[in-house]
Amino acid sequence: MILVSACLAGIPCRYDGGSSPVPEIQRLVAEGHAVAICPEVAGGLPIPRLPAEIQGGDGQDVLEGRAKVVRQDGVDITEAFIKGAHQALSLARKVGAKKAILKARSPSCGVTFIHDGSFTGALREGMGVAAALLKREGIELEER
Ligand code: SF4
Repeated sequence: MILVSACLAGIPCRYDGGSSPVPEIQRLVAEGHAVAICPEVAGGLPIPRLPAEIQGGDGQDVLEGRAKVVRQDGVDITEAFIKGAHQALSLARKVGAKKAILKARSPSCGVTFIHDGSFTGALREGMGVAAALLKREGIELEER
């Protein structure tokens, strides 16, 4: 079983109310080989929602209390991101997923690059919060 970012499965859970469907991932879900979760919605955030970025580091730093997740209007929503990351990990454990395919550049799901916290579109190396927790717990990550 594979864990996938819900927006890649075509679920309209992105901050802007859209999705980022990838036919191969939609097929995996439809055939029962993958389960979808949106860590941000699982953490209690609404759809749509203001964009958020990690400031002061990446997802690993957020998990270790050195960085925070901030909404575009300046509100700190770190707690919801950490809660959502743990929900994703719980689901992975429940279904026995050893691998996750996650959405690139998201402050939750990004695996190699995320936005740098300046809300200018600039990227920095690093993982989102859910990606960092899944990786720490031994789950293999891919991104799309
Ligand atoms: S948190 Fe992950 S699953 Fe949810 S919309 Fe963002 S990239 Fe997609």
